Amino acid sequence: MRHANDCERVREGLREYLDLAGPPGDGHALRRHLTGCQACQSALDEPDDTARLLAELPRPTMPAGMKATLLAAFRRAS
Ligand SMILES: [Zn+2]
Repeated sequence: MRHANDCERVREGLREYLDLAGPPGDGHALRRHLTGCQACQSALDEPDDTARLLAELPRPTMPAGMKATLLAAFRRAS
């Protein structure tokens, strides 16, 4: 069962990722799997500290160009 293996890899990788504050590319792949995988989301709902650690994952930073565009839009609106 390939999907089950993917899930195990994701859960192990997630632990490593959290420990290392990990490579952004790997983190992105883990997030993408978690977004589409109910089984891994359920695993993260178990009462341990994994969910708390997941909440501390760095969020994607906004591209500089997009930030400038938004700031310009805000200035025009005010
Ligand atoms: Zn999974």
